[in-house]
Order: sequence, then C-alpha cells, then structure tokens
Amino acid sequence: MNSLENTNNKPGKVYLVGAGPGDPGLLTLRGKYLLERAEVVVYDYLANKKLLRHVPPSAELIYVGKKGGGLHAYTQEGINQLLIDRGKAGRMIVRLKGGDPFIFGRGAEEIEELVAENIPFEVVPGVTSATAAATYAGIPITHRSYTGSVAFITGHEDPTKKKSNIYWDKLATGAGTIVIFMGIKNLPIITRKLIENGRDSKTPVAVVRWASTPEQHSVEGTLETITDVVHEAGIKPPALIIVGEVVKLRKTIDWYEKRPLFGKKIIVTRTREQASELVARLEEHGADCLEYSTIHIEPVDDYTVLDRELENIGSCQWLIFTSLNGVTYFFKHLYEQGRDVRSLAGPKIAVVGKASADELLKYGIQADLVPEEFTGEGLADALIRAGVSGKRVVIPRALAARDVLPEMLGKAGAEVVIAPVYQNVPPQGRKEQLREELEEKNVDMVTFTSSSTVTNFLTMVDASSEEELHRLLDGVKIAAIGPITSKTVKNNGLAVDIQPEQYTIADMVNAIVDHCQNSTTKV
Ligand code: SAH
Repeated sequence: MNSLENTNNKPGKVYLVGAGPGDPGLLTLRGKYLLERAEVVVYDYLANKKLLRHVPPSAELIYVGKKGGGLHAYTQEGINQLLIDRGKAGRMIVRLKGGDPFIFGRGAEEIEELVAENIPFEVVPGVTSATAAATYAGIPITHRSYTGSVAFITGHEDPTKKKSNIYWDKLATGAGTIVIFMGIKNLPIITRKLIENGRDSKTPVAVVRWASTPEQHSVEGTLETITDVVHEAGIKPPALIIVGEVVKLRKTIDWYEKRPLFGKKIIVTRTREQASELVARLEEHGADCLEYSTIHIEPVDDYTVLDRELENIGSCQWLIFTSLNGVTYFFKHLYEQGRDVRSLAGPKIAVVGKASADELLKYGIQADLVPEEFTGEGLADALIRAGVSGKRVVIPRALAARDVLPEMLGKAGAEVVIAPVYQNVPPQGRKEQLREELEEKNVDMVTFTSSSTVTNFLTMVDASSEEELHRLLDGVKIAAIGPITSKTVKNNGLAVDIQPEQYTIADMVNAIVDHCQNSTTKV
C-alpha cells in the first residue's frame, strides 16, 4: 500500500477535512465517514490524535507537525508535495486540519496546488476553535443584548509592521466581539492597539487554551489586565483571545470546566478490549483518562479440557462463566470448532454478574442464574442453593484465577471441571510513561476493575520498595469495583478510597463522581 505506483492510472482524491477544535466528538459525520475510508491520512498538531481511531489499520498515517511558532515538521511545500504524490498515485487521502480548514488553516493554499496538478478534491468544514473555545468557556459570541457582530482576526501578524492586513482603527470599535487566533505572543501589542484605537480599556477579555480538551484552561481579565493575567497563569499557545462584553456571560453559562471530574487525571487499568465503557463514562463527567492496559488477553495454548467437555456436553449440568472474557473466549473457541449455541441446549448456564449476563445474551442465551452479589462467593452460594451436589459443572475461565468458586462447589459435592479459555498477559511498553506520570504527580486517581488489574498495575509501576510505592501513589486516590478487588489493593499495602455498593462500572463511576464532588466542597 505504501508504494506510490499507480496501478489503475486514475488520480486519487484529496479530502481536506476539518478536525474540529480538539474534542473528538466535534468531528462532522462526513469527516468520520471519510476517515473510515482513508488510505492515507495527513494530519497536524492541532488535529486530535484520538480521531485516528476511525482510520482503518491499513492506512498510511503521516504527521506533519506544524506547531505554532515555526516548529514545522514539514514545510508547507513538503505537505503540498505529499498530497500531490499520493494523489497522483491514486490514493484516497484525508488531509486532517485543526478546526475549520479555511479559517486561518492554509487550506486554500493546499487546494490551489491540487488544482494546478489536476487532482480532484473536496473540502469538509469543521467546527472552528473560535466558536468552540468560546462555547466551552461559557461565552456566546453573539447575544441580542450585547452585540450583533463578530470578527475573527489573526494575531500572528506583527501589528507594528507598516502595511498591515488588519485595520485596527476600524476593528477596535467596529466589531462587538473580536476573536483573535494565534495572538498570545503579541497580546501586549494587540491590547494596546485596540485601546489606542478607541476600545474601552475595561472591555472584558477571556483567553482559552486547548479549548474543548481535558487540558482546557481559561482566564479572564480586561484589555488593561489580560496580559498580566495570561503571564501569571502561564498560558502558552494554542489559545484564543475573546474580546467583548459577551465575556461577562461566562459567569452564568460556564459549564465545561464545571463538570465534576473536569481536570482530573484518572488512570484506567483495564484490558484494552474492555476499557471503553469505563473511559466513556468517566469522560462524560469531564475526566482526562490515561488508559493503561495492564492486562492483555490472549487465548490459551491448549483447549483439550474444553474440547473434551464439548464432546460430552450431555453429561454437563451447569456451565458457569465467572467473567465477561470467559464468555467471549468460550464462544470464540466454540465457533472455531464448527459448533454453535445449539450444542449448549443441555446444561443450565450461570454467570457471575450483569456484564457477563449481557455478553451471554449477545450470543442468544439468557443466563439461568445470576447471583445477587457479583462475586465468586456470591455465585457459589447461589449455585449451592440451586443444587449442585452430584452434578458435573464446567467453568470456562482464565488460566490463572481464584479457586474459591471451584472449591466451594467441590465441597458441596459437585464434580468440578475447570476449562481454561483465556489467559492474562502483562503487556510490554508504556511502563516508563506510567512511571513519569506518577513521578510528576500528574495523576489524581487509579481505577481497578479486578484483582488482576491491581497486580498487573503494580508490576508495571515496578516500585523497588513499599516506601517507593507509597511515595509514587501519595495523593492518588484509589477506586476499586468491589470487595475482592479492594482486598487485593489492601493486601498490597494500599488503601481504597472509593468502592461502589453495586459492583458495576456504572456504579463505580457514580461513586467516583460523588467522591470528587464531596471532596471539592470540603476544600
Ligand atoms: N483552522 C483552525 C485555526 C488554525 S490557526 C480553526 O478553525 O480553529 C491556529 C490557532 O488556532 C492557534 O494558534 C489558536 O489560536 C487557535 N486554536 C486552534 N485550536 C485551539 C484550541 N483547541 N484551543 C484554543 N485555541 C485553538
């Protein structure tokens, strides 16, 4: 795919797509549709990398940098050439640009080159950071009682240069709201120009950095004070400057930074396959999630036990799933054997909790038994009450797992067969990054959704002593999904701050939100 030879002799097409301001949810549906079909994606600094999750794995990804201040990984000519070469090679190319491609995005310059080379193109607008920054800072850029006009200007141009593209004399009082891109470096000159040209020095100003991302940082002042405010807050590009009376509305409308978990960095320790629900729910409340898949799940090498049981499924009275992965990997193997759910008509089926029950339903099976308490013990008690004595029970589960359930059932007279269907393998890499985040005290919370996430997290942290572990986790809250996971945390010398009453992801997130709200009101 990377060869630039054109096999069908037709030119490709370049889609210039606005990536939106940062929040990956602000990509247009058209943009997503195109990313899902891209063969090449050329993206820059302001386009959120999270958008690349829409791109097929086979696509070529090219990062072309372009950080404000002249740090260009590629020159503009270099980018144009990339698009031309790949376009001529017949590729479907998405050129992803921050915000809207035609608002201070040099989009037109790239298109002009394509036109010159006869390469077809299309432009997809994006949510510009101008409106997004204002909205996410609680500022409506127009309002009937305040202003009926808005101007978008670049602050990159040196305002002292003789021939300016910006008519400061007309602009200063000509537009009710003025939104300035790339203006942080020139902020003192910009504010001076506006005041000199007749704008009231008490006019409210807001500056918003990394708008619509978990790093959003906004400050407020007036034309007179904002330079000092920005300096003191240490605000650097990329940031937008919003000047005008509408900034006053922020007091009432500010919402994004007020969400309960805004600004909280939370480590989500879960398998890559399962992290999404927890991450989505935490992000919904404003959290910045660092995903560390401390466990990687793989099939086992040997399925002899399961195969034997499937051959003799008639003698099995209970099939018991103790985890969601148990369900998934069981069915994966069942299908690989050329079988399907019809071979499971005989045994009754029990699951440990709601998540596994839901997963089972995806395969068309209603669980016969779900315990009230979603633990191995809870499941064992419920099964014993249902009657297991003299029955053959088969448990498809992880290669290494707790033995409480099989032991309890064995004591109650069941004939227990453990059939390993998957294994937990600690993944390589990202260890250094995790250490760094903890060393720099960037982390507010760690979440654990099973005992193995605890042990694998600790393996990844790799503290040389208990003192070091405590130092690294000092100030970091720990949330555990249920009592078994909490016990593992405590057995490792750590304290659990949050544990929900019901052992589900939804309840865990609610408990985290409650905890954070209570602890902020206390301060
Ligand atoms: N085409 C883009 C603008 C590119 S110019 C758009 O429509 O948004 C680059 C400037 O945009 C930055 O210097 C900054 O002023 C602004 N910008 C882009 N993304 C931003 C963000 N998430 N938060 C604040 N400012 C942003």
